[in-house]
Amino acid sequence: MSLPFPELGEAWREARPQAAVVHFDHAGCSRQSRRVLDGVAAHARFEAELGGYQAEGAAAPVLDAGRAAIGSLFGIGAETVAFVEGARAGLFALLSRWRFSVGDTVACAPGEYGPNLSAFARHGLAVRFIPTDDVGRIDLNRLWPWLATERPAFVHLTQIPSQRGIVQPVSLVGALCRELEIPLIVDVAQSLGHVATTFDADAVYGTSRKWLAGPRGVGFVAVRQSAFNQLRTLDGDEYTTETGIRLLESSDAHIAGRVGLCLAVSEFLAAGTGTSTSAATGTGTGTKSVHQQLAAIGKLIRETHAGVGGWRVIEPLNEPTAVATLVPPDGVIVAEVAAKLLTQHGFLTSAIPVSRAPGEMTTPVLRISGHLETTADEIETLARALAS
Ligand SMILES: *Cc1c(COP(=O)(O)O)cnc(C)c1O
Repeated sequence: MSLPFPELGEAWREARPQAAVVHFDHAGCSRQSRRVLDGVAAHARFEAELGGYQAEGAAAPVLDAGRAAIGSLFGIGAETVAFVEGARAGLFALLSRWRFSVGDTVACAPGEYGPNLSAFARHGLAVRFIPTDDVGRIDLNRLWPWLATERPAFVHLTQIPSQRGIVQPVSLVGALCRELEIPLIVDVAQSLGHVATTFDADAVYGTSRKWLAGPRGVGFVAVRQSAFNQLRTLDGDEYTTETGIRLLESSDAHIAGRVGLCLAVSEFLAAGTGTSTSAATGTGTGTKSVHQQLAAIGKLIRETHAGVGGWRVIEPLNEPTAVATLVPPDGVIVAEVAAKLLTQHGFLTSAIPVSRAPGEMTTPVLRISGHLETTADEIETLARALAS
């Protein structure tokens, strides 16, 4: 089988350094392009040459464009976007400020990211699991009566979970939450750059290093302007249109990394449009072809691996993500297989422990995640290695 946009894959691969392994862990950490790597290094150098604050000032247009680009992917403005140190830092910033009381409930899917569940507990929130179907997707038929009865302080959804390449129906959940006036916060760490994110949520947060293929240690949080009143002000600060949400940012930060994230977002938006960078928005045709190519890669991984060596693929074959997760045959230790795939065959995959989603997982799984650069050949070779 061939992939729908081979030229897109080639351009993405060409833009990056040669890999020393066959990379199937993009959901863990993807590969930065040479342009992003150079941009980060150049900014660090400007700090040494010009002064740290002066370099930051000089980079303001890049940072502002990055905020606008990230906002555009959610259909909201640049003034709603803050840079933080990663997705977990984004959730932490939100929970530290969100107006809820200790003992309030947060509703989420049973497949919620384990560290997010811990963060809820640390902030004194009680977790209630929303009814789901047998792959862990929110059951929309049962959601309305459930939400109307439970009335949680807010709903938290992880659009694509870490341990399973399925997409939650965030748009429909968002519409329902809006109608019931229940705030919705969405973790897009696995979904931004991967699938469409134009839904109506009050706040979103995500990370740079996964599907946007930016640097590590950088992320963002964005709060819809109409939800600014959900945030507590501390020390007399105020979420005005001018300061926007930047009050959530650290007082000092790795600005070079933020520059890298901004460059990575512009590359993502330009991918598939035939230009090296562009002012394209998140609804552009390029973005659509990126999403289609990623979905085709995921489908091919699932088709090629289904039943191989007794492994079982969890996702429906046509799920529009580039991630496949495999349940091992009885007695097989996933972490050992992942280690062997790397040391003996040169394939980087990921062994996902049960703690990743303790409300849903009953056994560790092997996660295989491709990106635009992934080829059909690599997928077939990996399946042969797994079979052996
Ligand atoms: C990776 C991940 C996170 C954490 O991201 P960091 O940038 O490491 O904080 C949060 N949620 C999900 C669903 C993830 O996959």
